[in-house]
Amino acid sequence: MSKKTARRKHVPQRTCVGCREVLPKRSLIRIVRTPEAVQVDLTSKMAGRGAYLHDRRSCWERGLKGALAHALKTELTDRDRERLTEFMSSLPEDETTHEERGYA
Ligand SMILES: [Zn+2]
Repeated sequence: MSKKTARRKHVPQRTCVGCREVLPKRSLIRIVRTPEAVQVDLTSKMAGRGAYLHDRRSCWERGLKGALAHALKTELTDRDRERLTEFMSSLPEDETTHEERGYA
């Protein structure tokens, strides 16, 4: 009798546009395209087309190089870029294990 219960929580999965890894939505940061701007959506509730990125710089750098604009089907303006770069600079530089960080 084995008691290996596979965790069957229904977790929405999203793809990080930086590295294409698929992860539970809540361990990624949502970026949303609104009519005004492309911005970080920390509430995950803003209306608009969204894309997801890890909270690590390497993914943001890749995202800012084009993957993000592509996912959002738009072009980043200088202001968008500025805003996103600013957010990126607040992120840890090292890769972190998301499973262990326990975002809630
Ligand atoms: Zn990533």
